[in-house]
Amino acid sequence: MAVNALGTMQACELARRTGARVVVASTSECYGDPLEHPQRETYWGNVNPLGARACYDESKRYAEAYLTSAVRVNAIDGRLVRIFNTYGPRLRPGDGRVIPNFCLSALKGEALTIFGNGGQTRSFCYVDDLIEGIYRLATRPGLAGQVVNIGNPDELTIRELAQIVSELAGAELRTRNRPLPADDPTRRRPDIALARALLDWEPRVSLRDGLLATLAYFRES
Ligand code: UDP
Repeated sequence: MAVNALGTMQACELARRTGARVVVASTSECYGDPLEHPQRETYWGNVNPLGARACYDESKRYAEAYLTSAVRVNAIDGRLVRIFNTYGPRLRPGDGRVIPNFCLSALKGEALTIFGNGGQTRSFCYVDDLIEGIYRLATRPGLAGQVVNIGNPDELTIRELAQIVSELAGAELRTRNRPLPADDPTRRRPDIALARALLDWEPRVSLRDGLLATLAYFRES
């Protein structure tokens, strides 16, 4: 919480003093377990402020409130990107997220661990697409105070993801189930109409191509 809160305050203060532009990396976690689907930037979210994910979600929401206030009060040129699930080569193997976990298990011929029944959905964006979106948001003029979703609207269940990763790794699908973590969102999918309109941006890399590149990385590392 301190990193997100104090880090954003320091960055905004630096922008105020120097006139620099600042882009805060926010998150789809601001939408919590969303009641609106897909999620548009205008949706206020459904976040549990006391739950296991609250330290992350609420500090990112604080960062958003701080930045938009600094744009209003101090007239800084600040922008917000709400980043949805992202993956690609150079993910940390042990970071616990679903794509590195599934890739490593499939390559080792181990069972893939599915939390809950695997019916929850996510939408995965390849890292190169994400970077292009952030670059455009950071460099286009006239976007002070703007918040934009960057993510891939191609939504699938975690069960379907397990199937695809196993197939691309050339492994037979084997899974085991573990309990669903607390407050695990049931679905996530960005509405990217605003990114299309403001940034002429949309993802270009398909899930299969992105997963093949990611598997190749984990195979070599
Ligand atoms: N998940 C899973 N097995 C794993 C890691 C994650 O089934 O080994 C599930 C997790 O419960 C969640 C989804 O995959 O529903 C995405 O999890 P991740 O941590 O990658 O991202 P986030 O929940 O932050 O969107």
